[in-house]
Amino acid sequence: MSITQHPIVYASGVGPDRAAALAEEFSIRTTHQFLEHYPFRYVDKTQYLSIAQLTNQSNEVQIKGQITKVEELGSPRQKRLVATFSDGTGFIELVWFKGAKWVKKSLKLQTPIVIYGKLNVFNGKKSIPHPEISAPLSNEVSSALEPVYSTTDKLTRKGLNSKGLAKIMRSVLTAELDTLEEPFSASFRGVHKLISKAQALEWIHFPLSRKHLDAARNRIKFEEFFFLQLTQQRNKMRNKSSIKGYKFKEVGDSFLNFYKNHLPFELTGAQKRVVKEVRMDVRTGAQMNRLVQGDVGSGKTIVALLAMLLAIDNGFQATLMAPTEILATQHYHSLNELCEPAGIHIALLTGSTNAANRAVIHQRLQDGSLQILIGTHALIEPTVKFANLGLAVIDEQHRFGVAQRAKLWKKNENPPHVLVMTATPIPRTLAMSLYGDLDISVIDELPPGRKPIQTMHLFDKNRLKLNGFMQREIEKGRQIYIVFPLIEESETLDLKNLSEGYEQLLRDFPRPTYQIAAVHGRMKAEDKQGEMQRFAAGKAQIMVATTVIEVGVNIPNASVMVIENAERFGLSQLHQLRGRVGRGSENSFCVLVSSFKLSSDAKTRLETMVRTQDGFEIAEVDMKLRGPGDMMGTRQSGQLEFKLASLVQDGDILNWTREVVEQLLMDDPQLNTPNHCSIKEHWIRLYKHQWGWNRIS
Ligand code: ADP
Ligand code: MG
Repeated sequence: MSITQHPIVYASGVGPDRAAALAEEFSIRTTHQFLEHYPFRYVDKTQYLSIAQLTNQSNEVQIKGQITKVEELGSPRQKRLVATFSDGTGFIELVWFKGAKWVKKSLKLQTPIVIYGKLNVFNGKKSIPHPEISAPLSNEVSSALEPVYSTTDKLTRKGLNSKGLAKIMRSVLTAELDTLEEPFSASFRGVHKLISKAQALEWIHFPLSRKHLDAARNRIKFEEFFFLQLTQQRNKMRNKSSIKGYKFKEVGDSFLNFYKNHLPFELTGAQKRVVKEVRMDVRTGAQMNRLVQGDVGSGKTIVALLAMLLAIDNGFQATLMAPTEILATQHYHSLNELCEPAGIHIALLTGSTNAANRAVIHQRLQDGSLQILIGTHALIEPTVKFANLGLAVIDEQHRFGVAQRAKLWKKNENPPHVLVMTATPIPRTLAMSLYGDLDISVIDELPPGRKPIQTMHLFDKNRLKLNGFMQREIEKGRQIYIVFPLIEESETLDLKNLSEGYEQLLRDFPRPTYQIAAVHGRMKAEDKQGEMQRFAAGKAQIMVATTVIEVGVNIPNASVMVIENAERFGLSQLHQLRGRVGRGSENSFCVLVSSFKLSSDAKTRLETMVRTQDGFEIAEVDMKLRGPGDMMGTRQSGQLEFKLASLVQDGDILNWTREVVEQLLMDDPQLNTPNHCSIKEHWIRLYKHQWGWNRIS
C-alpha cells in the first residue's frame, strides 16, 4: 500500500510473539497491512438500550450495566458459563458455550461494562450468547464511535482483543501517517471531493462522528474500486490500440446466403442489435473482446453462428467451446443442421472423440477445409492447431477459468476475435468489476411467443398431487425433466438420490405406458448421448437427470421441469434449470419440490423463483445471499475481494469510480500530467505484478 512497508514486529507494543500471531491469523506482516485491518463495526458509546425496554423484536443490542453473578452450568461435557447482568432496570443472562474457563477469568463482578450482542428470547427468558464486552465511554476518549476489530481466540490470548488491537492501531497510525503514499493529488481530491489517505485512515479507525466515518469509508472504497477499474480500462484501451485484430471487412456469401435462405426464424431486435455490435467490432482492425449476456433461451447460439459466418466469409476459421459434452454435442447437431444445407463444414471435438476422427479433424483444421470446430475444452489442447483461427466463441463462459480462455488466444500468432457468452445474468456491479475490460452486449429480449413459465413450490409430502399433474401433462403430449441433486445416497445428507427417485418413478409411471430416460455425470458419454437422444426424439416422456442438463440443453417439447430437493440448489442453478423449459409454444411449468424444513436462505431462494423470471433480478438476490465471490465461483473470488468496498452495497461508488476513470483516461490516457503521475506511480508499483500486462479475455 505504500513505499515503506515496515514490519509490524517493530511497532510499539507488538514484538515477535504477537507479530507471529498476527501473521498467522490475519496474514498481517507490515504496519500498512495492519492499518488495513479495518474495524468491522463501531460501538456508539452514547446509545444504550435498557433491559426493561427489550422486546422479542430487539435484535442487536447494546446495554450498559454490570455482572452480578457468574456460574458454570450443565454437565461436565457440555459446560456453559452463565453470567447474570443487570442495568438497574432488569436482568438478563450472558451465556458462553465455548471457552468458559477462559472467559470466566476475564469477567469482573460489579464493574461497569458495555455489552453488545444478539438478543435471544426463549420462553420469555432473555439472554445474549457470546456477547462482546467493552468498557464504557471514558471522558478522555475523544471519539464516541469506538472501533470493533475482528480478532481470534489466539490473538485474544495474547492480549490482542479488539481493544488491544485498537491500542496498537493508534500508535501505528501516529508513527506511520507520514509514510503513507498518497496516490491522489490535492487537486484531484478537490475535484472529486475526496479526503486524503492519511485522514481517511485516521477516521476509519477512530471516527469523530458518523460524518467523519462516512468520508473515510468513501475515500477508501473509491480507491479500492479505482485501481481495479483503472487496470481494466487501461487493458481494454491497450488491447484496442495495440493488439491487431483480424479485419473482417466483408459481409459475404456465407453470411448473406444464410441470413436470407437458412435462418429458421426472424431475429429479435436484441439479437439484431448484438449481431450489429459484433459486425462493428470485427471490422475495425482491433481485436474484439465482447461478452454477450443473455438470459437462458434468449437465443445466443444463432448470434454466435452469424459471427462465425462472418469469420468464414473473410477466409478464417471459427471455433465454439462449450463447458460440457452434452452441450457441445447439442450445439454441433443444431448448428450442423443449419450449416449443412448452406455448404459449411463443421465438426465436433470432445474428450470422447476417437483417435481416428481426431486425426481427421486435426488434418482438416490444418489444411483449412474445416471451417467451424465445435467442442469442449478438448479443443484448447496444444495438439489442436488451426490454419487460421479468426474467431473463438466461448459459450457459458463462467464455467471456464481465465486460464482456459487465455489458451484460446494463443491458438494463433495473432489472437482471434473473442466472443464470450453467458446465460448467467450478472448484476451490473459484478459485470463491471469482473469484465471491465470487455465490451458488453445484452440480449434483453426473448424470442416471440414465449409464455411465462409458471413456477410453484411444493412440499414433498404432496407428491401425489405432483404425480397427477405430471400424468396430465404427459397425456397432452408434453415431456418432463426431473432433476435430482445427487447421484448417490449420502449418509449424512438425507437426499433423495437419483437412482432411488428413478426406482420410485418406475413404479409411479410404469412401462410400457411411460418411458423414462436417465442421465447423470457418472455415465459414459455415449450412454448419456443415447439417453438424451431418446428423450429428444420423444421416445421417453420423462428425463431423470442430475444437473448435467443445467446448461444449454434445448428440447422445446419438454415443458415441465421438476426440481427435487430444490432447497439444495443455488439460485442461479435453479434459474438455469428452469430455463430448460418454456422453449416451445406450450404452457410450461417449473415445480420446486422441497422438504418442509427450510432455512431462511432457502426460503428466500424458492420465493424468489416463484416470484420472478427476470434473470437479472434473480442474480441480484443471489449476490445478496451469497456474496459476489461465491456467486462467481472461487476462481474469480480473489478479484472481487475488497478490504472495505462491497459489490453488493457499493454499486453507486463503483459507478462513480468508473465514470471518473473513464474521464481520466480520456483526458490523460498515459497519466503523464503532474496531477496524475502519482496515480500512475502507485498503480505501477502495486498492480503491475498482480495484474500483469497479460490479458484477461
Ligand atoms: P440461449 O441464449 O439460452 O443459448 P438458444 O440459442 O439455445 O438460447 O435459443 C433458445 C431457443 O430459441 C432455440 O430453440 C432457438 O432456436 C430459439 N430461437 C432463438 N432465437 C429465436 C428467434 N429470434 N425466434 C424464434 N426462436 C428463436
Ligand atoms: Mg446457450
